[in-house]
Amino acid sequence: MLREGNYRKKALPFLRNDFQRTCAYCLDPRDLRHPSLDHVDHFNCKISGRKRHAYTNLMLACAACNLTKHDKPVCNPLDKRQRLLNCTRECEFPQHIRESEDGQWVPISPEGKYHVTVIGLDEACHRSKRAMRRRLADQILRLLTTAIQYEADNPAEVQSQLMATLRELLRDLDFFPPLVTNGGVLTIRQWLASRGVDTDLLESPSAHTGGKHTRARG
Ligand SMILES: [Zn+2]
Repeated sequence: MLREGNYRKKALPFLRNDFQRTCAYCLDPRDLRHPSLDHVDHFNCKISGRKRHAYTNLMLACAACNLTKHDKPVCNPLDKRQRLLNCTRECEFPQHIRESEDGQWVPISPEGKYHVTVIGLDEACHRSKRAMRRRLADQILRLLTTAIQYEADNPAEVQSQLMATLRELLRDLDFFPPLVTNGGVLTIRQWLASRGVDTDLLESPSAHTGGKHTRARG
């Protein structure tokens, strides 16, 4: 029996398993947060009594989503279509939210608009994380496509594309914390330099490829 005094401790291991590590609202994986930031959220926080802590009313949420949601109702009392999306009922995010190229979650229904606004999913921290994830995925796609498509025909184009994508990857890595090493606290660029890689080479790709760019086929 889940009660006020024990629901978090008892429900959390089951929620972590059932929600497959992800926050019910922003979908962030649990591996990216400290265990103490795994919150047990009451989906409908207006329910009182024993039903409040019923397992079906509990969600795994990251601290940011839970604290932003706070005591807001599941539905807007003035417009029932404006409601929170319940990821345990159906996989309904794509019906209500589209993700733009720059990582913005764009509501396409009243439900999506309410969900994004109430949980604060349009905040810059969410947007920049989603945008960076998309850029990394794009970079991997480009590298793989180029490597597979042009390997035999056009090594110079592969080299050129590789350097361009590495340049972008390095810029994205600038957003991450520095490395703590025996040699001190180093940025990624300083760390690469300590391993004998001069990242300035990336900034002048033509010098590295001998200034020769052969047009890719097709
Ligand atoms: Zn979240």
